[in-house]
Amino acid sequence: MSQSPSRVLFVSSESRPFASTGGLADVAEALPVELNRIGVSVDRIMPLYRAVWEGQGKGDYQVERSPYTLQIPMGNEILPAEIFTAELQGTLTYFVGFEEYFDRIELYALPQREYSDNFSRFLFFQKAVVALIDALQAPYEVLHLNDWQCGLLPLLLEKGINGTGRGGREKTLFTIHNLAYQGLYPATGLYKTNLPGNFLDQYPSLEYYGKLNFMKAGLLGSDRVNTVSPTYAREILSPEFGCGLEGVLGSLPNPVVGIVNGVDTEVWNPETDPTLPKTYSSKSIAGKESCKKDLLKEVGLTYDKEVPLFVMISRLVDQKGIPVIGEAMERMMSLPMQFVLLGSGQEIYHNWLKDWNRKWPEHFKAIIGYNSDLSHRMEAGADFFLMPSQFEPCGLNQLYSLRYGTIPIVNQTGGLQDTVDDYRQNPKTGTGLRMSQYTPESFLECIRDAISLFHDKKKLRGIRQNGMRHDVTWTRTASQYLELYRELGEEK
Ligand code: ADP
Repeated sequence: MSQSPSRVLFVSSESRPFASTGGLADVAEALPVELNRIGVSVDRIMPLYRAVWEGQGKGDYQVERSPYTLQIPMGNEILPAEIFTAELQGTLTYFVGFEEYFDRIELYALPQREYSDNFSRFLFFQKAVVALIDALQAPYEVLHLNDWQCGLLPLLLEKGINGTGRGGREKTLFTIHNLAYQGLYPATGLYKTNLPGNFLDQYPSLEYYGKLNFMKAGLLGSDRVNTVSPTYAREILSPEFGCGLEGVLGSLPNPVVGIVNGVDTEVWNPETDPTLPKTYSSKSIAGKESCKKDLLKEVGLTYDKEVPLFVMISRLVDQKGIPVIGEAMERMMSLPMQFVLLGSGQEIYHNWLKDWNRKWPEHFKAIIGYNSDLSHRMEAGADFFLMPSQFEPCGLNQLYSLRYGTIPIVNQTGGLQDTVDDYRQNPKTGTGLRMSQYTPESFLECIRDAISLFHDKKKLRGIRQNGMRHDVTWTRTASQYLELYRELGEEK
């Protein structure tokens, strides 16, 4: 068997527990720890957001100043990047600090708009990554890049942060967590990269219809590309899911590999979860009903053991199927069910939720915001979890649901298709329900079938047990990434 690369740097714009907006942060937290556990030496690097400082109060980690302050050229300006570190679960994280860019309330966007200087913020971050690697004088063999915020790194690793070259570049693996966000910016910013030549037509990997596209540069510049499920890896080669980059993806010398994410089985464990009023397991499930009672009380709905509880935890954006729920809502609320939704995102959807809270106070409750502890109690207390996403690269909540004995109802797309088996087609192995189409009708059909299932206690128990036995560990995922790292290590 080939040798593992000696050192890997995992680069991402967010990671739990430091700062997070979505699934990328869960991956960035768990994967490096698991890889370190199986013998690859992996460090992490991310920006030093305000949230990183605020999270220190919870006591898991301590951020410390490193000796490094790096001078980062941004066109004609030189800006300082102060490097900090923290050690957590045996993994070292570097933080790139520059208050003007990262000491902000949110990571990328306010509810109304994206931060207008995201191009500069993440260009600066990527340059600081290269500057730190050079300053450390401890080579990384592989850089594991994640999403558009890392897309310029292959070019920067080759050309250097001043555009004068670096004498060779590290191998890069680029992971797509969501192709819909590409980092598309006006070409007028090109001078800030300090890339030599400074004309966009010299950088076809970066150019996209006259603009700069970080994602495209990452895909074309990296040695390998993967994404977070086999189905999404196939889907993104089509115009429907390729977000304009299907041609680029189809032209890559190596096919895009799909590796399904895992779950942190210590954080998401109904047997030990400290946020739950009662813990439970697949063998002794009684505690789940107590969690349901408590959850309903917490959100202000009345418990009725004959009424199934559906929940959803999500960013409130089109991708997550909120428009389908909007169209189905009236018909859903006429069924014998309760529905609790936790999320935040687009303002228009916040208004929908406030409306629904007023309209169906006995059957529906929306909590607008981000609340990690409540999300655990919802996973435990629910009978069914809703995830009617239009597209879903991998999705994590359906995996948490499986672990918590909560039956997922998902659209048939991406990672949802790869991880949820429909019991109506496979009665013996089924773990959930899959919509056959992305329509309110198909969604409602699943809800009606779920309500019938809820009253067939024997069948319900079997499907729950199947889900709770599903392998969602990071060990399986990490070994697949290790294989990709090895392939890169062999290509000298
Ligand atoms: P995405 O990365 O597209 O948002 P995923 O399903 O891959 O979707 O991951 C979402 C992660 O963020 C999950 O861990 C989910 O529980 C969490 N999450 C999303 N919204 C909230 C919220 N409002 N409160 C708590 N956790 C949330």
